[in-house]
Amino acid sequence: MIITRPREWSRIMANLDELGAKRVFIMGCGQCATVADTGGEKEILQAKAKLEQEGREVTGWAVGEVACHLGGTKLEARKHHGDLAAADAVLVLTCGAGVQTVADSTDKPVFPGLESVFLGNVIRHGVFEERCQMCGDCVLDATAGICPVTTCPKGLLNGPCGGMWNGKCEVLTDRDCTHVRIQRRLTEQGRNVLAVLPPKDFAKKLKPGSVNLRQDKKRAAAAVRSDDAASTGGGAGE
Ligand code: SF4
Ligand code: SF4
Repeated sequence: MIITRPREWSRIMANLDELGAKRVFIMGCGQCATVADTGGEKEILQAKAKLEQEGREVTGWAVGEVACHLGGTKLEARKHHGDLAAADAVLVLTCGAGVQTVADSTDKPVFPGLESVFLGNVIRHGVFEERCQMCGDCVLDATAGICPVTTCPKGLLNGPCGGMWNGKCEVLTDRDCTHVRIQRRLTEQGRNVLAVLPPKDFAKKLKPGSVNLRQDKKRAAAAVRSDDAASTGGGAGE
C-alpha cells in the first residue's frame, strides 16, 4: 500500500490563503490512506474541525472507495456535485496518485493534504516498512527474497559496505546488514552464496510508468489473427 503522512498544516493553509478559498470540500480514500490513519473518515473530520477553527466553511466531504481509481472518483464527485460546486477548493487526504485523480474529476482547484512517502508493507496494524521501490528489474530471485535496493540504506546491489560491523548495518545500527541477511538466508536454504549482481537496467524504470492491458490484449489478439491467416495461406496480398 501507499504510505502517507500528514502534510504541514501551515502549507495547506498557505495554499488556501493564496487562492482566497473560504469554502472547502474534503476528499479522502477508503484504501491506503484509511489504513495509514491519514485520510479516512476520522482524519477528514479532524481536518474539517481545524478548517472551521480557521474560519473556513467545509461544504462537504467524501471518502472515495479507492481515490486513485478514475471511474470511482468521478462517480464520487458526481454524487457530491452540489457540495463541490459550492467549494472554492478541494483538500485531498490521499496519496499523490489520488490527488491527481481528484484533480481529473473536478474543475475545482485541488490541494494535497498528505505527503506520499513510500510503498509499504504492513508489518502489523499501524506499522509499515518500505521493502520495494518498484525498480522494474527485480533481483529477489537471487537475493533470497530480500531487496538490497530498498532495505540497504545505501541502496547497494552488492555488499556489504565497509561499514558493516558484526553483522549490523552501519547506518541503521539496530538492524542486521541487508547483505548479511541475504547471505545468511541463502546459506540456510542451501543455496549458492550470492555472486556479484550486474548493474541494474534503469531503462526499465522509465517515468512515467504506464500499463494498458486492454491495448496489450488487442495486440495479442491481432497477432494471433495474423498467425492464423499466415498458416492458412489467407494473408494479405495472397
Ligand atoms: S529489486 Fe527490490 S526494488 Fe526492485 S522490484 Fe525487486 S523488490 Fe522492488
Ligand atoms: S551495513 Fe549493510 S545494509 Fe548497512 S549500509 Fe552497509 S551494506 Fe547497506
